[in-house]
Amino acid sequence: MPAKTSGVIESRQIVLASRPEGMPTKSNFRQATAELSPIDDGEFLVKNQWMSVDPYMRGRMQQGDSYVSAFKIDEPLEGGCIGQVVDSRHAEFHEGDWVLGSLGWREFWKSPGEGATKIEPGLAPVQAYLGALGMTGMTAWVGLNKIAKLKRGNTVFVSAASGAVGSIACQLAKAQDCQVIGSAGTAEKVQWLKEKAGIDAAIHYKQTDDLAGELLRLAPNGIDVYFDNVGGNHLEAAMEVMNDFGVCVECGMISTYNATTPPAAPSNLFKIIVKRIRMQGFIVSDHLDVRSDFIADMAPLIKTKQVVWEETVTAGLENAPDAFIGLFEGDNLGKQLVRIA
Ligand code: NDP
Repeated sequence: MPAKTSGVIESRQIVLASRPEGMPTKSNFRQATAELSPIDDGEFLVKNQWMSVDPYMRGRMQQGDSYVSAFKIDEPLEGGCIGQVVDSRHAEFHEGDWVLGSLGWREFWKSPGEGATKIEPGLAPVQAYLGALGMTGMTAWVGLNKIAKLKRGNTVFVSAASGAVGSIACQLAKAQDCQVIGSAGTAEKVQWLKEKAGIDAAIHYKQTDDLAGELLRLAPNGIDVYFDNVGGNHLEAAMEVMNDFGVCVECGMISTYNATTPPAAPSNLFKIIVKRIRMQGFIVSDHLDVRSDFIADMAPLIKTKQVVWEETVTAGLENAPDAFIGLFEGDNLGKQLVRIA
């Protein structure tokens, strides 16, 4: 357990230095140090061990709200984190407890209890609560079960399939006896999808200039569900191969997040009418009420290794901006994490 702390705490943090134009660069971030006063009665102090970097944070770097409020210039960024309580004057959170919070991008944070959830190490390593058992795993589960209303035997296409959300979506669909096709941007990722995630086929999308043709070749009877993490040309290809009354689960559109001009695709949107496609966007935080159903479903799948995952770990808080930027360059296999301590 980390050592108990006393007095003022110096906490390194990463602040937003400037808002990116297009692809973020390291100059958009700056390292700073905050001084935290000692905890008061009813508070506890957390030392972060892990933090998550996620594509949605790109939206928060822009001026103006997307579905989460914008980060402020010269203030620390925020995001999912896992830490250990190192000092407590709170009745329910004790030294040594592992907690999940939303104040990543820093070494320490204080809490009165709100915004912190105790996690029980045991089912999986604690950092899994930022990935497979956390926000990204639950996104996959909600997208398939609540939005797609997946049926056994469906043919499912998942883009960014080897990433944090995609890799779990692929395996949850396989666990429901679906035929699953994924797309990813490197040969290593394609191999992982076929050999470790056990999906039926995987497309190296950077090595084809006819994504729709490749998808049709692998799913000659069409696809019933498209789990969209990418948007753009992936969405266009999926709509081309979609069966009548199919569903596009709009989870993310990472191919558009750094665009400086509006994306042209999908140019075939009319297919939504021709094929009576249902296209539905969703945000996982609207579905927190099903968290216990999600964990109950995942636990046996993890125990029996029907669901496995990868982590790409970047060491050091100071390297968190690189880890974040890497998401847009396909640097990660599975969940991208930063090891802070
Ligand atoms: P990932 O772990 O999938 O990391 C991002 C991956 O996206 C990269 O590794 C890269 O893989 C791929 N990628 C990056 N740029 C492009 C591009 N231009 N075209 C195609 N693929 C690209 O991230 P997450 O799993 O955390 O997130 C996946 C998606 O889900 C994102 O769009 C995110 O915004 C969304 N999301 C939505 C939520 C919701 O509530 N709606 C919640 C969480 C995530 P590759 O090498 O294969 O290109």
